Amino acid sequence: MPRLTVIAGLVAGLVVGAAGAAPLKVVCTLTDLGWLAAEVGGEDTEVAVLCPGQYDPHFLPARPSLARELGKADLLCYNGLELEIGWLPALLEKARNPRIRPGTAGDLDCSQALSRVLDVPTGPVSRAQGDVHPLGNPHYLLDPRNGVLVAKLMAARMSELRPEAAERFQDRANRLAADLTPRIAAWREAAAPVRERPLVQYHTQWEYLADWLGLELLGAVEHRPGISPSPRHVEELEARGRATGVRELIAAPWNHLDAARKAADRMGAVLVELPAAVGALPEAVDYVAMFDLILARLLAAAGE
Ligand SMILES: [Zn+2]
Repeated sequence: MPRLTVIAGLVAGLVVGAAGAAPLKVVCTLTDLGWLAAEVGGEDTEVAVLCPGQYDPHFLPARPSLARELGKADLLCYNGLELEIGWLPALLEKARNPRIRPGTAGDLDCSQALSRVLDVPTGPVSRAQGDVHPLGNPHYLLDPRNGVLVAKLMAARMSELRPEAAERFQDRANRLAADLTPRIAAWREAAAPVRERPLVQYHTQWEYLADWLGLELLGAVEHRPGISPSPRHVEELEARGRATGVRELIAAPWNHLDAARKAADRMGAVLVELPAAVGALPEAVDYVAMFDLILARLLAAAGE
């Protein structure tokens, strides 16, 4: 199916040129963005994703094949807030694609859709020390309300690039919002038993999820995001976890799970691995299934 679309697009491009029905080539950095773009873009787009769901998006190896993918893009959708700063600028440099240069219509920083950013540092932040959240917490797609905002932003930008398909982009974004809105309410309601239980996280990955579901995050094993914690910080956190009766430590599959499990053991908690992206775990096949799985695992850990 994708191959057929590629060939059809190529033929249309040759015959009728830029004004034809060639699908918009959208490259997304993350699987969540790829799912949203495909939902909004439908058959008017071809969507490719750079970072597979099982990889930590802070630290993707910048392989040449990814630069080639970027070279073909009409639209680049990325998370922003410097989540991809370790690899995307290098790939863009190699791709040399004027259609997605910063400031052009083909360059879409999806964090522009947000009404607020969590954990914006108040003091000086030194990237030299390795802090990977210098502009605030970038993991906003773990609040599905932000997914809806991003879908609307994508529809607007796709419409700008392909005005003839604008109505379809808009319709699909509206349908997606209508489908997600009742699910968002149901997930939040289902989370009630988890709200009673303070959680410890490994990386500060889950702030937006907690903000949306009303969960209490007691602390993070990584004292500063992306930096190996000091033994003293971990000991203090474990002591606090024991004193507070923390029963679950949540982590993404790409975190240091051995260290996470040890910390969980020492505070009398269990490690709960959660899909932090579409495809991070096999059952998280799409954005909806990802939240279904997050809720199912949190509830199972809470004995519900
Ligand atoms: Zn992070």
